[in-house]
Amino acid sequence: MVSATPKVLFITGVRKSDLLNRQKKDTTVFEDLKNNVTYANIPSRLIKYNELGRTITARCWSCDHEYTGVEIFFPKVIDNDKFLAEGCFNSFKCLMSYVKLYYSNSLDEIESINKVNFLKRLLVERVPGLVASLEPALPKYVMSKYGGSMADEDYLALL
Ligand SMILES: [Zn+2]
Repeated sequence: MVSATPKVLFITGVRKSDLLNRQKKDTTVFEDLKNNVTYANIPSRLIKYNELGRTITARCWSCDHEYTGVEIFFPKVIDNDKFLAEGCFNSFKCLMSYVKLYYSNSLDEIESINKVNFLKRLLVERVPGLVASLEPALPKYVMSKYGGSMADEDYLALL
């Protein structure tokens, strides 16, 4: 709910010089060296409904494994005939981990899970045998390469 009267917060002992420079933070540039593309923020792409279910080769944004499989992404914006897609994931479990990590404040999370559910329904219709559990994957840090005790293969078997 948005209040009609603006609210002002005073914090004693805090000076303007103590504030983070938001302008600087927002213009952080992510470079995609392989494709020689420079992004002003996290890259997203448009995917049309009729492109759903296609196979891609990519690296999972959640567990970091390279994979070739059905294109699973976070549908950040859902339009009439297309999605604004963020990320690529080798499983819905990895996608859910990503959502829990980056869209975890309560309103965002409910809306985000609804969007994932919508994508799941469409993909399950199009891709026979697609595993689409919405239980979040274990954190990638349980794998031995991150100092944990689980082998990569065992981690992948759980997705
Ligand atoms: Zn993954």
